[in-house]
Formats: sequence, C-alpha cells, structure tokens
Amino acid sequence: MQSRRKDFPILTSATHGGRELVYLDNAATTQKPEAVVNRICYGYYNVNANIHRGVHFLSREATEAHEEARATVQRFVNARRASEIIFTRGTTEAINLVASSFSEECMSAGDEVILSAMEHHSNIVPWQIQATRKGIVIKVIPVTASGELDMDAYRSLFTERTRLVSITHVSNVLGTVNPAREIVEYAHSRNVPVLLDGAQAVAHLGVDVQELDVDFYAFSAHKIYGPTGVGILYGKEEWLDRIPPYQGGGEMIASVSFEKTVYNELPFKFEAGTPDYIGSTAMAEALRYASGIGIDKMAAHEHTLLEYATEELKRLGNVRIFGEAEHKCSVLSFLLDGIHHYDTGVLLDNMGIAVRTGHHCAQPLMKAMGVEGMVRASFAFYNTQEEVDKLIGGLKRVKEIFKQL
Ligand code: PMP
Repeated sequence: MQSRRKDFPILTSATHGGRELVYLDNAATTQKPEAVVNRICYGYYNVNANIHRGVHFLSREATEAHEEARATVQRFVNARRASEIIFTRGTTEAINLVASSFSEECMSAGDEVILSAMEHHSNIVPWQIQATRKGIVIKVIPVTASGELDMDAYRSLFTERTRLVSITHVSNVLGTVNPAREIVEYAHSRNVPVLLDGAQAVAHLGVDVQELDVDFYAFSAHKIYGPTGVGILYGKEEWLDRIPPYQGGGEMIASVSFEKTVYNELPFKFEAGTPDYIGSTAMAEALRYASGIGIDKMAAHEHTLLEYATEELKRLGNVRIFGEAEHKCSVLSFLLDGIHHYDTGVLLDNMGIAVRTGHHCAQPLMKAMGVEGMVRASFAFYNTQEEVDKLIGGLKRVKEIFKQL
C-alpha cells in the first residue's frame, strides 16, 4: 500500500514549520490520486461541451464520457441498470432528494420514518424539514454503549404508519458498520423500503446494492478518492419511477408547454440542469483507481491500522474511546481525559497531524454519548503505521503539555 502514496502528491506536502503532513481526516474527505486530478484537467482541456443537447462532435464526446461514468458507477455498486444511478452533488443532496420526493408521493401527516441516533445531520435535517412541511414523524433507534444499533428497539419502532427506514451504513463518528442486510430484511418483511447513507461505507466495504436489496443508496465521490461536488443516489427503478422529480429545469423534461410538461425518463428525470459532467468522469476514474487496488485490500490495511491505533491509544491511558462495535471500520474517535477536543486538535495540528475535532455533524449522537465533541482520526489505505505512531507520539506530547499547566 505504501508504494501507492506516490499517487497522492499532497501527502508529501509540508505543514507548520515544514513538518510533513500526517493526514488522518479521511472520513471528512479523502485525498485525490493524480489520475483523478488529471482526468479533471483532461476533461476541461479536451472534452468540454454541454452534454445531452448538442449535435456537435464535442458535445457527443462529453455526453458519452458522462454516460460511461454512470455505467462505471453502476458496475461499482452492482446496480441492475445505469438508469438507477442518479448523479447528485453528494450524499447530502441524494438524501434530500429522497426526503423530498419520497415523502411527497408516499407520506402524509402522521406517517413515520425510522432514523437512528448515530445519523449525520444530513440524514436528520432533511426529514425534519419534511416533518415541518408535511407533519411526518421521526422515530429514532437508540445506540448501545459499544456504539451499535439496538436492533430490538429497531424492530419495536415499526408501526402501521412506518413508511421508510433511513440509516447510515457506517457511522462517521463510531465507525460502526451497521447490519444493513438485517435492517433491510426486517423492513421489507414489513413492506417498508430502506435508504442507506453510504458516505462512510463506499471506500471501505464492497457495496453491492442488489445483494443488500436496498431501495435507495446515497454516497459522495469525495469520500472515495474522487472530486468534491459529485455524488450518487442509487434507487430501485420501481421507486425512482414512482416518486416525483426533485428539481425542475432543463434536462429533466421530455417536453414543456405552459399547459403541460412531461418529465424525462430515468435517470434524467432527477437531473435538472447542467450536471457536473467533468466531475462524473473524475469520479469514475476514482472508482477505477479504487477497484484497481481492491476495496478489500484497502480495507484490510485500514483495519490493521485501526486495531493498532486503538491498542496504542488504550496503552496511553486516561482516554475514552467512542465506538467499540464488533464490526467497525476506519474511524477512531476519542477524548483524552480532562483535555478539550479542540485543544487536542490544535496541538496535533501544530505537529503536522490533521485530525477532526468537534461534533462531526452528529450532535444528537454527541448528546447520547454525553459529550460536546470528540477527536477523530480516520484512516485511508495510504496511511501508514509510522503515521499512527506519530499520532500516538503527538497525543503523549499533548498530555505532557497539559500536565505542566
Ligand atoms: N453522511 C455521513 C455518514 C457522512 O459522513 C457525511 C460526510 N461527512 C455525509 C453524510 C454528507 O456527505 P456530503 O457532505 O459529501 O454530502
């Protein structure tokens, strides 16, 4: 894995005082390999024309590249059809699309959506907007002390009014890999569809939407070595056909008159306006890059780092680790006793070590854990054991500094 670090020029950059960057904030966004950045430049230099509408050569080439990118995503998540792959701005927009369109068609006041206490704000607030607009009701699965979903509670939340389950596949705070198959199976036994937020899963698990039998699946390119501003909503055709468009505009129509507008077929019905056709091709490049190495190989390496980091962190003592689920990936959240997460983050930053501090866009989970924030180190396949050692060394130094105060 270490040999692939050279694909990421930014990893050799310097931070404060010329210290080499130790990038451990991969759950926020991953770094981009040269191939992905080059694909962006290549696109703008060579294949830039608005897609789907031009008869000219360049427009056709750009359209082909964009649709080929869609097919690459389809293969990556093993969707049945390319038309089940909707390009969005990211996970957030994908979830907002479902929240808006699904609740418009399939929910009325008093109908219920099941979320969990470990959701990112982007899988809470869109539902709250619908709660305000339509009077839908949000039910929340509690999280156990080890950071797992309480599955008995999950089953007990279902009622006659349950219309959708919307849950994160992997927690961005706890690293917990939720039992997606079990969640989907139970929901389907109650005739309820499931949306999985895959933002933290795609780079670490081999996602197969058919095997999961999930109804909707959302993720962002930038979490898997791709560009910012592009993401995916996978949806089963029968659902995408059933729910109305999310936004109106060009591309998403078959015909428009002031009397009657006919919407376009899938996937275009959900893609109003000029899409990020350069971003989509760069995303496809990122997926090819990740597949070329192998998500399983990356995940195995990340798991070794996670276990090593967890052990070393425990050996430091006076530390509280959040999230010790049996099935966990790539994220290590913690607090040093008596030291504010922000102080830890700033001091580590001075040593060139980039970690995330704060509530990680999961304030309800922070409340459930009884804290305001945490420090989070998150690993990608390009991280090394030496970098974990630097993190642990840095944390020792933080503790020493605080002892002297
Ligand atoms: N869900 C989870 C679990 C996440 O970790 C994130 C990103 N931190 C999001 C949703 C939102 O992703 P984006 O900002 O790319 O839309």
